[in-house]
Amino acid sequence: MSKNTAGQAIKAQAALADTRFKSYWLDSIDVDDDEAALQHDDRCDLLVVGGGFCGLWAALQAREQNPERNVMLIEAYSVANGASGRPAAIMSTSVMHGIDNTERIFPADVAELERLGRENMDAFRATLERYAIDCDLEWGGEMKVSIGDQGLEAIDDDYQLYLKYGHDAVRLDKAAVQAEIHSPIFHGGTWSKQRCGTVHPGKLVRGLKRAVLTAGVRLYENTPLLAARKTAGGISVDTPGATITARKVLLATNAWAAGHPHISRRVAAIRDRIVVTEPLGEEQMQKIGWQNRQGIYDTRTQLNYMRLTADNRIVFGGRLDYFYGNDTDPTLDKTAQPYIRLVQSFYRTFPQLADEIRFAYAWSGPIGLTTRMAVHYQKYFDGNMVFAGGYSGFGVTASRFGARIGLAIVDQQDIAETRMQFAQTLPGYIPPEPFRWLGARITMYALDTLDEKGGWRGWWVKMVQKMGFPITM
Ligand SMILES: Cc1cc2nc3c(=O)[nH]c(=O)nc-3n(C[C@H](O)[C@H](O)[C@H](O)COP(=O)(O)OP(=O)(O)OC[C@H]3O[C@@H](n4cnc5c(N)ncnc54)[C@H](O)[C@@H]3O)c2cc1C
Repeated sequence: MSKNTAGQAIKAQAALADTRFKSYWLDSIDVDDDEAALQHDDRCDLLVVGGGFCGLWAALQAREQNPERNVMLIEAYSVANGASGRPAAIMSTSVMHGIDNTERIFPADVAELERLGRENMDAFRATLERYAIDCDLEWGGEMKVSIGDQGLEAIDDDYQLYLKYGHDAVRLDKAAVQAEIHSPIFHGGTWSKQRCGTVHPGKLVRGLKRAVLTAGVRLYENTPLLAARKTAGGISVDTPGATITARKVLLATNAWAAGHPHISRRVAAIRDRIVVTEPLGEEQMQKIGWQNRQGIYDTRTQLNYMRLTADNRIVFGGRLDYFYGNDTDPTLDKTAQPYIRLVQSFYRTFPQLADEIRFAYAWSGPIGLTTRMAVHYQKYFDGNMVFAGGYSGFGVTASRFGARIGLAIVDQQDIAETRMQFAQTLPGYIPPEPFRWLGARITMYALDTLDEKGGWRGWWVKMVQKMGFPITM
């Protein structure tokens, strides 16, 4: 370790001295009391399992489509316990983890998936208005940036795709991107301006929970699904206090599904980390620019992403990790140590703030990762129980779409969307433990040291790409 890097690490440690290791989004609002846990056996037409964005959107849309339908939603802990209470919450129009990823996985369907993405975002917005959900929406757009020159080709490719599919996008050269956001490491960017931006996910999830209750969904928190089996009456779901018999079940359990022996063949529980600064003062805001308040992310696999909060904190994320056995609650992530490298990335991005900034919050969250990086559907019990998930790093708004199609699939509706490839096929196979853990560690190490050391690392990264993962360096 160079003297400079060691110095930065010590500075980062000090900046994390008073940090709270919990989600800023949930700590900064009044969260509603939990709904009671289920204590009596019950029946329903549709049981949704998991109270994140996907489950809440599924339950809400099910009741909106048919107000007579008897819909139950069970959540193992409190709603927003998972990724939905912890994202950066940069909103994208894409329902397939970005326009470039859409072209990578479904090249023949890009136009239609983009159209569905626009439709989804308009319906998302209309729903928030209908239920008066106030969640600090800011429509500053999403901006992808190149760190140094390495990502410029990807930025150009994205820009061409944006033009081809009718986005209101601009390509920014080094001077233009640095005029927007004063970071010396940004060498170019593509800024898509319409139907995207940022949201307060804690307020959004709280609003969706209230909407779900208003719509007549029967919601039970602290009620985990323990087991499910096919019975004459439908599907029986055991919880600690009662058994539910449901005609249909939609599993919206995201990364937790990686603990399920079948689902986990295609889903891994990856960890993604975030640090949040204290609110910036006026002078500090001037130092960074960012007048248009875009949601920003870069082109690399070990990427960084960032945004501002309503009270001008910087939310800065990245440093993916994996814990043995798809651990969805690693104790290590409640300490400063795993956030030090993220803070060092922050210093490289905003060196003008490095000597004066402190981090009020740090946390990590579970990402349900697949080779596609986008929602897919796994069918069980003759298609009457469906897992919908795998949004990877882009699910805040895509989960509304994923839930809508998940409902259509579990209801066995023959509509244009359920005939599309994304709904009909599965992402690639991911090996089980201990190969999963070993593979993840080697990949992360290879990505961190490839530039410096080369050698076998390039070969390894290519092999992981061949497995279907969209790795960039
Ligand atoms: C650090 C981080 C940053 C991110 N940044 C962004 C971003 O900027 N933009 C974006 O679009 N997306 C982002 N994402 C991704 C986004 O948050 C997720 O895609 C989205 O929240 C997934 O929603 P979900 O409902 O599928 O999963 P979750 O919110 O994880 O919900 C799953 C729920 O299921 C519950 N559950 C699990 N097992 C059971 C069981 N047996 N019984 C009952 N309930 C159960 C869990 O407790 C949990 O509440 C980010 C994610 C993370 C972690």
